[in-house]
Amino acid sequence: MTFIWHLSFVIWILDISTPRILEPYYTIHGGKLEVKVGIISCSGEEIPEGTISRIATRMVLEKLRPDETVTICLPLFLAGGEEERQFAQNFPTIAVDGCEKMCAKLATEKYSGKTDGVIVVSDFLKNHGIKTPDKRRNFTEEEMKIAEKVAEEIGKRVDEILKRG
Ligand code: SF4
Repeated sequence: MTFIWHLSFVIWILDISTPRILEPYYTIHGGKLEVKVGIISCSGEEIPEGTISRIATRMVLEKLRPDETVTICLPLFLAGGEEERQFAQNFPTIAVDGCEKMCAKLATEKYSGKTDGVIVVSDFLKNHGIKTPDKRRNFTEEEMKIAEKVAEEIGKRVDEILKRG
């Protein structure tokens, strides 16, 4: 809670001095600040789990938690995008990584701030007894359902973070 109060003050100061700069990252409902959670997906192209990371992240942003989440472009983040790096320093983030190399989590923590959670898709599939798709694109309906399960897990983590405040 203390974190939210401090954040409210900082955002208020920033908002009146630099209008709209942080608007995509929070909303104000009835005078109450509602912080969004940043979802940072790895950009893995080499393995199906990287594809699942990206699809699941989009599902959360567009369908499951559109009002509570925002994404950060990992390549821009790595290239030095100031806004992206500031975001992860000041707002809660979840990294979604295809495999145990955890590129999204490591990049976020190296260049910005500590993540509040990480989902490693390869571990998730193993722990849930789900067979990994054998291709990286043109997912079937069945394979999209796997991405949906990962998206639901991300959604749960978002809820936990927002509940903690
Ligand atoms: S976490 Fe794994 S799948 Fe994702 S970009 Fe890194 S190596 Fe590729």
